[in-house]
Amino acid sequence: MRILVVEDEVSLANGIAEALRLNAYSVDIAPNGTSADQLMFANFYDLAIVDWGIPPPSGIELIRHWRDEGIEIAIIMLTARDELDDRIDGLDSGADDYLGKPFELRELLARVRTLLRRSDKSVHVTYQVDNVELDRRRVEVRLDGNNLQLSPKEFALLEYLMTRQDEVVSRSEIIEHIWDDAYDSVSNLVDVVVYRLRKKIDGDNPKRLLHTRKGSGYMLTSSRIRPA
Ligand code: CA
Repeated sequence: MRILVVEDEVSLANGIAEALRLNAYSVDIAPNGTSADQLMFANFYDLAIVDWGIPPPSGIELIRHWRDEGIEIAIIMLTARDELDDRIDGLDSGADDYLGKPFELRELLARVRTLLRRSDKSVHVTYQVDNVELDRRRVEVRLDGNNLQLSPKEFALLEYLMTRQDEVVSRSEIIEHIWDDAYDSVSNLVDVVVYRLRKKIDGDNPKRLLHTRKGSGYMLTSSRIRPA
């Protein structure tokens, strides 16, 4: 899941990004309204966290503009203001949720999970595919009930594939949802992460969950099958 953080306060923006990345989300940061707008139309985001008070256009103007342009992703507005009128303005502009500063990162993470779940029926708190179980809240994966150590990217890849079970997912879709702008476009990085994830969830099992579809991408099947 890829998240755009629009916040001009550098330490806060970095703190939010770090917490999100630790939880296996990919994150881009925009320090002002103009760059936020450019990023929004250049990439595919699953959610945006937008501060109200940023160098123009303001958070509220941005959200209005995005909604007018038909962008339907979940948006959380951050603000130092917490007067009722401001809150209503924020929600009226098209934000789905509103968080007053200061806030606990844990609360922001909880709201991110809730909104992602609400905006996309395929996003859950836990997933189970055959003997593999993913817990979004704890950021844990279990195989036959035993904890698997996954890197944040492996976790993010598995989660994304789990939302799209039995579909072929292209490498570029994976890059759009799992990598952020720090990604150096070496596309075999995707293959490396897929390879490591497959080793962990499929191991030597001749019946696999994670399949390569030559020339088109990857597929996580809802039950173990032998590779075609
Ligand atoms: Ca600000």
